[in-house]
Amino acid sequence: MSTWDLIIVGAGPAGVSTALHLQREHPELAGRTLLLEKETFPREKYCAGGLGNRALLRLAKLDVHPTVPMVPIRRVEVCTENYKMGVEEPDFGGVVRRMEFDHALVQTYVQRGGQLREAAKVESVEPGGIGVRVKLADGEQLEARAVVGTDGVAGVVRRSCGFSGGVYRAQVLEVDTDPAEGDPPRDTIRFDASWPDFQGYAWDFPTLVKGQELVCRGMYLIRTAGEGNLKERLRDYLAVRGLDIRKYRLKPFGERGYSLTEPLARDRVLLAGEAAGIDIATGEGIAQAIAYGALAAPYLAEAFRKNRLDFSDWTRRVRLSGLGKNLLGRLIMYHCFYGDRRRRAGTEGLLHGSPAILEAFARGFSGRGPDARFLAKLAVGLPRGLGEATGALLKRA
Ligand SMILES: Cc1cc2nc3c(=O)[nH]c(=O)nc-3n(C[C@H](O)[C@H](O)[C@H](O)COP(=O)(O)OP(=O)(O)OC[C@H]3O[C@@H](n4cnc5c(N)ncnc54)[C@H](O)[C@@H]3O)c2cc1C
Repeated sequence: MSTWDLIIVGAGPAGVSTALHLQREHPELAGRTLLLEKETFPREKYCAGGLGNRALLRLAKLDVHPTVPMVPIRRVEVCTENYKMGVEEPDFGGVVRRMEFDHALVQTYVQRGGQLREAAKVESVEPGGIGVRVKLADGEQLEARAVVGTDGVAGVVRRSCGFSGGVYRAQVLEVDTDPAEGDPPRDTIRFDASWPDFQGYAWDFPTLVKGQELVCRGMYLIRTAGEGNLKERLRDYLAVRGLDIRKYRLKPFGERGYSLTEPLARDRVLLAGEAAGIDIATGEGIAQAIAYGALAAPYLAEAFRKNRLDFSDWTRRVRLSGLGKNLLGRLIMYHCFYGDRRRRAGTEGLLHGSPAILEAFARGFSGRGPDARFLAKLAVGLPRGLGEATGALLKRA
């Protein structure tokens, strides 16, 4: 039986980021780590591929520069029931194809001597052997002193180890279509949250599929409000743009949001990336997955050094980290932005009256911190936004 100190289950951005950070910063543990992936790269991952520049900056610190086709993004558009808002952000990031991006990350890991097994589907993770026993679908059994679950939204690690399915879940339906009249320019991504009764949004992201300029579109629905007829909504959304849904391949998937109330670890098993939970407000998860890896690697190295593999403080470590604070911010955004709460809290007016709030979001995406000009803009704009929000609330009352 093959035995390891650490087995990482799932070679998406969270798993590979954890492994790349170990390689760079804790090579001894990296040498005793195995990364398992059920697919064979290049593999498809349903995703719109919106990649915040902050993720690229984090990878650059590891001297990782994925050279994949990318549509650079410089502007974000947000539509709500009453307003169309936009913000320019020169360093926003871009849109990639996950088939290419994830492959590039995995290749770097392997080229640096990382140990990866593809077509290795994990079927269960149980206590046993030197700590944890990992059973593969072909019947093979592996042992490790600890396991990291980075196997995404429907991961087996969570299920096997008795974690719940999660508090915040979203349903997503994605499609790559031809460009259409009314699309924003190709350096712009659009979030359309025009429906106050819908806990989600539609998106239009420019994308490059095998060199062809297409548009990735879809519907994102946060499910706590109940099921929604996503297909009909997407059909109508496309029809307005002169596109026939029947012509395109529909890609349904789920997402899991980060919650403050759930544990992210148990004895010898730690969750990261979407297996733990990402941003429920927008469904953004690539940058978060990479950030989870940056946090997990030093944490794991320290736990191994001290031989304390109960991971009892991992949940707290995530919560107190920059990543945890960012995810908390997005959780608050979710509670203020969607459904009737947007009206009740006057969020729409606040956003419209204070463009700096949207700018803060775009800056966060890009990894640019606040500067004096931005803070001045926020200070000037906030009272106007609060005024607009109060006006809307009074009108409603
Ligand atoms: C339709 C859609 C659009 C999205 N758009 C965006 C976007 O524009 N920008 C953004 O930032 N985020 C987006 N997201 C979210 C983003 O795709 C995820 O949050 C991100 O991929 C999470 O990374 P991860 O590494 O945690 O998990 P994943 O990327 O899901 O990787 C998990 C890996 O584990 C492997 N695996 C699963 N089970 C097993 C098993 N049993 N054994 C071995 N391996 C296993 C999988 O094959 C996969 O390679 C979108 C999601 C969806 C569904």
